Amino acid sequence: MSILVVDDSEDVRLLIKTFLNSAGYKDILLADSALEALALLDIPCEGLKSAPSKKKNLDVDIILLDVVMPEMDGIEFCRIVKASEQHKDIPIVMTTAIDESKLLEVAFDSGAIDYLSKPLNKIELLARVRSILKLKKETDQRKARELELVELNRALFSANERLKELSSLDGLTGISNRRGFDERLEEEWNRGRRSVTPLSLILLDIDFFKFYNDTYGHLAGDECLISVANSFKKTLHRPADSLARYGGEEFAVILPETNEEGALKIAEDLRKAAESMGLQHETSKVADHVTVSLGTATMIPSEGSAPSDLIDAADKALYRAKEEGRNRVKAALQQEENT
Ligand code: GH3
Ligand code: MG
Ligand code: MG
Repeated sequence: MSILVVDDSEDVRLLIKTFLNSAGYKDILLADSALEALALLDIPCEGLKSAPSKKKNLDVDIILLDVVMPEMDGIEFCRIVKASEQHKDIPIVMTTAIDESKLLEVAFDSGAIDYLSKPLNKIELLARVRSILKLKKETDQRKARELELVELNRALFSANERLKELSSLDGLTGISNRRGFDERLEEEWNRGRRSVTPLSLILLDIDFFKFYNDTYGHLAGDECLISVANSFKKTLHRPADSLARYGGEEFAVILPETNEEGALKIAEDLRKAAESMGLQHETSKVADHVTVSLGTATMIPSEGSAPSDLIDAADKALYRAKEEGRNRVKAALQQEENT
């Protein structure tokens, strides 16, 4: 706790210091001019050569300030302090002689919180200092609490965001889970409806994955799912395309603004990507390595249909890809997309 006394009269400075010391205030800083006080607070003042400062003190709790001083008066000093982001909250009490009372209005305008008349009265001075310091302490505490609250809110917000993110991510592969997929499909469906552009969906399923697990174990099965997801991530280039784990060993890819031809091409890229990993699968009935079957569906979202229609159509196409020999891509038939 420190109190800064600014007065060009040495007698006044010493008198105030004595009053304050007598009430137990020990940390008193004395400045004989506004410039010295500014230097003490480390406030730069353009156009004026700052007085050589003693030790800088940036932690002043109250300033007792003489209004009338040569070179720079208390009013000007007060304005400068109140304009300083760091020091604007320091309460300033003006000390004025009776005949300077006309200056009081300007003093308050410049940001002073209170005033004391000279000649100074010890009891009055100490009472004023005590109540202002108490107020300052309460204000500081409230500000600190507000700051803590802001910090807490910020932390809560980012934790929430992270939670939201996590709740839509698949724990094993790190890509979107079914929930993330559902949300995204809904969004893209609505966007496609507004822009009247085709929306495509690929559903794909690892071939004979049950046998893979049976042959290599569940952990190896998990590793396989991770590798497949990674190879798909690398295959998809457009930022709008989104990959999700649809369930078990099934994946889904949403392709906004993509027609059937485009969807078939990407599906074929994904099929090749899975194959080219060359992951051994000796119990598969279609190849000696891991393969996938894929179904695509394309619709222009409209009032009379729903995202589930797109899923159904892609699912039927996937079923036919399985039926017709696996490790292949099938597009939904027109009637599948229209039902
Ligand atoms: P199909 O070619 O017809 O798709 O045959 P499939 O064996 O792949 O299909 P099926 O639906 O009979 O089996 C799916 C298997 O996927 C069974 C299940 O244990 C496995 N599976 C599902 N989720 C996971 C997982 O998170 N980890 C592992 N390791 N296996 C999983
Ligand atoms: Mg399968
Ligand atoms: Mg399956």
